[in-house]
Amino acid sequence: MSTDVKRVITVLAALLLAALTTTPSRAADGATPSAGQRIAEALRTSPVYVDEAYADAVPPSRQRQLADRIRRTGLPIKVVLTPLTKGDAFDGDSGVLAGIVRDRLPDQRELILITTDEDFPDSLNGHEWPADTHQTRDAVAAAGFLEETRDAGLADVTAKAVELVAEGKGTQRYEAATKDLDAPSAGKAESGEPGGSRWWLWPLVAVPALALTALATRALVRSRSRRTAPAVPHLVFATARAADEAQLRRRAETEVLALGEATQAADVSATPALQHALDAYAAAGTVLDEARGVPDLAGVLALAQEGRDALAGSPGLPLCFFNPLHGRAAHRTGWRPLGRRERLDVAVCQDCADALRDRRAPEVLTDRAEDGRTVPYFELPAGRSVWSATGYGSLTSPLDGFNSRRAHAR
Ligand SMILES: [Zn+2]
Repeated sequence: MSTDVKRVITVLAALLLAALTTTPSRAADGATPSAGQRIAEALRTSPVYVDEAYADAVPPSRQRQLADRIRRTGLPIKVVLTPLTKGDAFDGDSGVLAGIVRDRLPDQRELILITTDEDFPDSLNGHEWPADTHQTRDAVAAAGFLEETRDAGLADVTAKAVELVAEGKGTQRYEAATKDLDAPSAGKAESGEPGGSRWWLWPLVAVPALALTALATRALVRSRSRRTAPAVPHLVFATARAADEAQLRRRAETEVLALGEATQAADVSATPALQHALDAYAAAGTVLDEARGVPDLAGVLALAQEGRDALAGSPGLPLCFFNPLHGRAAHRTGWRPLGRRERLDVAVCQDCADALRDRRAPEVLTDRAEDGRTVPYFELPAGRSVWSATGYGSLTSPLDGFNSRRAHAR
């Protein structure tokens, strides 16, 4: 793309975002001042506010420890740990929370606020006024990425965040802690698909806006502030999904055919994993025949890739864990799913690695839960989805997952 074209798209995207973005923060600010007021009042007696929901994770004894640590730093640090959900008093946005609390504090010229993160309840966000002098934002983000906080609870991560803010080298710490996500791309493979499931935007943004919004997100927004938009008629949404699915089905068919031809053409003596490739081919065909939607069709792609890798005798990284339609992954990284203590080792594409590094939600492939909700596919119980069980190859090989499912079904 030429620079001019990029510039035009960037401007268009910015305009679009501005147009779509109602002002939830202002609305939330005016609608329910009481939550912010309550927190601000609590912060007058202790620099640590912990909502009941986090009382187990950060009990009063730990709160006192945190308060002591904060006092020893001599910095105007305050901690607010409270759940954030869309539509609440803070519109589910840590930036809005921070702004509202700050507005209600008596002395707000210099303030460092450490708050819960809107996307991951075990993560934190840093905010600082009048400027990010102590590199608060990066320091707080780094606290969750360190080896030593890998399995730490919220109280420990918060203590670490306070320590890193006081140290004042947050950016350096953050870059060191996340440098594995920045490693040069090994065989970066991106499909160029329009990404059928920017799951937190899909229900919100008009379909033609999606591409621009995605571009804008990439081009402009390194911040974690999220945008909301007017609801879109269901019909438009469903039609777009159907078109995506038909296109994906054709692609899956093409890949299965190509794999079949490649296995036939393979030299038996020179292809030790030929049987593996044939098995993957058979499985891909079966899944394709029985495919009930995008998650299954993506599974066909994963099986086809496993087959091709077997033929080539060079197993590369699997498809992107978060959305296999992103293509082959470029990195492996640790990632902690929502509400789980243990970290998973997953393979991710460059875009998803960037999103994790910037603490944005990656673009996730969704599936339908038993109760009809649309959720990230990997949140389904492993027993219900072979794709959740295998992570499309990040957790175990798609073929192994398929075979064990068949074995159970018998
Ligand atoms: Zn990805």
